[in-house]
Amino acid sequence: MPKFNSISDIQAAIRSGSSTCRSIVEHYLENTEANKALNAYVEVWAGEALERADALDRKWEENPASVGRLFGAVISIKDNICYAGHEVTGAAKILEGFRSLYSATAVERLLAEDAILIGRTNCDQFGMGSTNENSVYGPVHNALDPERIPGGSSGGAAVSVQVDTCIAALGTDTGGSVRQPAGFCGLWGFKPTYGRISRHGLLAYGSSFDQVGVLAHNPSDISLLLEVMQGPDDFDSTAPALPAEKWPAPEKARIAYFPQTVDNDSVDKGVRAVTRQYIDDLKAAGHEVAPVEFDLLDYIIPAYYVLTTAEASSNLSRYDGIRYGYRSPNARNLEETYVLSRSEGFSEEVKRRILLGTFVLSSGYYDAYYTKAQQARRVIRDRIRAIFQEYDFILLPVAPDVAGRFGEQSEDPVAMYLSDIYTVLANLAGIPAISVPAGKHPENGMPVGIQLMADAWKEDGLLGFVSR
Ligand code: GLN
Repeated sequence: MPKFNSISDIQAAIRSGSSTCRSIVEHYLENTEANKALNAYVEVWAGEALERADALDRKWEENPASVGRLFGAVISIKDNICYAGHEVTGAAKILEGFRSLYSATAVERLLAEDAILIGRTNCDQFGMGSTNENSVYGPVHNALDPERIPGGSSGGAAVSVQVDTCIAALGTDTGGSVRQPAGFCGLWGFKPTYGRISRHGLLAYGSSFDQVGVLAHNPSDISLLLEVMQGPDDFDSTAPALPAEKWPAPEKARIAYFPQTVDNDSVDKGVRAVTRQYIDDLKAAGHEVAPVEFDLLDYIIPAYYVLTTAEASSNLSRYDGIRYGYRSPNARNLEETYVLSRSEGFSEEVKRRILLGTFVLSSGYYDAYYTKAQQARRVIRDRIRAIFQEYDFILLPVAPDVAGRFGEQSEDPVAMYLSDIYTVLANLAGIPAISVPAGKHPENGMPVGIQLMADAWKEDGLLGFVSR
């Protein structure tokens, strides 16, 4: 059990005098030490977090009314989010020793509201993976069963919240990297509408998919962090003004689900049972939950992997051994500097995706793959948005199975890609989605998550609904 269940719990403890920012940071630091073996953190900023806690305690003493909305909230950030003056590597050798010159907009906004950053968390390299095994720092272990993966790519972020080393974690979600590890670790994980939070200061993976997301113990902390981080930003032209209109959570919701995601032999039996139960509970509470036909499921993974690898191959071209981080000591000329730095600096999985992406963008294949995938994305998005004309939410499992054991998926990249089938839909369509801890697997006891997705910009209703 976490010592504090929510940010408001922390603030109440400070108000009552039973805690200070310092004692809270000390508590979380003790837990980072005690859980070191799980490998959730790449770096813990212990000294700095304590100093900031002291400064915030003084601010509180001087004038309690002057503190920000995230006063006392201790937060971890994924190692692909920039924080000025701090190292950021995307868990890749190629960024070894690189220090960011500026902070991500999301990070700046957290700090402006008096949050305390405790450290940067382990992840799959550049956000590519679903198991957190693809990291130069080694794998992260799920605290519920250290033989099992925590999910990925934000596996460190999930475990950092799971073992109570912070109240919430920032991750990034290109195709499920916040929701899936949250689901595998028994937490809430949220990805907003594309553009709701600025991407300025993220190490880009798939720029038309990436969003900052939050992992937490409850939806109200997620709402609070979203409120603080969201909104337009001069540094990101894909972050527009927020719509003025609010969308309250429906009293009686109309929820669509795709029967083949619930009644299908390729979905684990325990996951199916928990999903069924969740649907039954919603019905018992008076909501309408209806099967809806969706025949585009088979196109989701191909479209996602064609488009994200294309974008990644372009985004990762900046890591050339010259401008950032690692440069191969074995290179004797410019050509070798590029080739060896990149060959030695990227993992197998990242190289696989650069090759795939370069292939689908090459002149002879561009129309057959890249253009087709763009068209498929549009058809999928339009179909999803049509469903939202009739339904408030779409319900899906987080993944076809619970957290697996090490090696089960990393041996077979295609199997790993296929396991993303239920999460990437939200990123293809650009819509908000949340994974809700829905229960435990009847046989192995691992957590099972359910996702709810809403139409673009309807976060109020989505978060309001799951908070009911
Ligand atoms: N597992 C997916 C991938 O490897 C999603 C990753 C992510 O959301 N960053 O692309």
